[in-house]
Amino acid sequence: MTEFSVTEFRQQFPILQRLVNNQPLIYCDNAATTQKPQAVIEAISRQLQNTNANVHRGAHYLSAKATTLYEQARAKVAQYINAPHADQIIWTKGTTESINLLATTIGQQLLAEGDEILLSVAEHHANIVPWQQLAERCGARLVILPIDQQGRIDVDKSLPLIGDNCRFLCINHASNVLGKINDIKPLLNKAKQAGAITVLDAAQTAAHFKIDVQDLDVDFITFSAHKMFGPAGLGVLYGRRSLLDSMPPYQFGGEMIKTVSFEHTEFNQTPHKFEAGTPNLTAVIAMAECIDFLTSDLCQQSLRYEQALIAYAYQKLDQIAGLQWLVVGCPDLPIFSFTLQTGHHQDLASYLDSRGIAVRSGHHCAMPLMQALQLPGSVRVSLAPYNTFAEIDRVVQCIVEFIASEQQPSQTAANVTAIQ
Ligand code: PMP
Repeated sequence: MTEFSVTEFRQQFPILQRLVNNQPLIYCDNAATTQKPQAVIEAISRQLQNTNANVHRGAHYLSAKATTLYEQARAKVAQYINAPHADQIIWTKGTTESINLLATTIGQQLLAEGDEILLSVAEHHANIVPWQQLAERCGARLVILPIDQQGRIDVDKSLPLIGDNCRFLCINHASNVLGKINDIKPLLNKAKQAGAITVLDAAQTAAHFKIDVQDLDVDFITFSAHKMFGPAGLGVLYGRRSLLDSMPPYQFGGEMIKTVSFEHTEFNQTPHKFEAGTPNLTAVIAMAECIDFLTSDLCQQSLRYEQALIAYAYQKLDQIAGLQWLVVGCPDLPIFSFTLQTGHHQDLASYLDSRGIAVRSGHHCAMPLMQALQLPGSVRVSLAPYNTFAEIDRVVQCIVEFIASEQQPSQTAANVTAIQ
């Protein structure tokens, strides 16, 4: 394997050439969404220019072509996560829709009064609200697994909470705020022993390492294409075959049926019974290109570089006086959430934006976690392998400038710039 070249990697992403607020863009909001490589952009445009037609319907050349590409993309994703069969991959709009699908199909099917749904305190709203609403409908209750000081689900404290009433264990592989990879296997195993269904929200991990669904032996896994250099509006839900087959459909309409009469409808088989209506076929077909990109030598090499980037960013940010981490220790993923002793997180994000640096601030769709940490919000700097060490230096420099400007209340951030 040749040495990783960040310059070569950056060249794949045309947006990185642009200016924002008259400064070179430094994109540090990758946990929200990643930028797209040229190969994926071209795949989208190629599909629209050459193979656009509805799938699984038309008796014509283009429809057959689009259907073949659509199903090939499904097979490619199945291979990427080592799913036994392509039919176990369901296309959704994203992680959010995948979890809603589960809650309203198998959730509604299996839950009864007194049953428990186990979530961690560090879930994204997408892995809380669908279950909460379902619990209210069914008379079930949510049981919340704690995290430890490092920000990972506390396995020792959580295992005893997985009891006889546990019907669903729905946890993230890594939190979108804390960037720590959870030790999921003991939790999944215990839940399985308790006869529960296991659901893994891999929205934050799918871009960073290969997930092997057979090795994890989990019932359902979901992730979003847009967080792994792919198109927005597309998600993947992998499911265990026996469960998918016995689940009711999610939505009703075209595509998910075999026969329809006014008296009765016979549903299509897995996975089509979960894909009602015209899908986001352009995104699906481009997803095949995205998987090729993720499995390319360049992308594989980038993962080692990413580890060096994490260590460097953590060390540099850690040296900033007045920067407070949300949890203890260096994150496993390039996600850095912090607050400042002086200055509001939103003001820092605006200050960085004025310097062309994109970060996120606020509750990061994890309000219960923020409540547990007793914080109104935080700033999140999240990186990808197109970020450079020099960019990290620039981010750190701007944070230090912001803190200095906040410590001199008579001078606004704007006139500090003017003085420089
Ligand atoms: N879960 C996690 C851990 C996430 O980070 C996100 C996106 N921030 C989601 C779920 C929801 O993903 P999407 O908005 O793509 O549906």
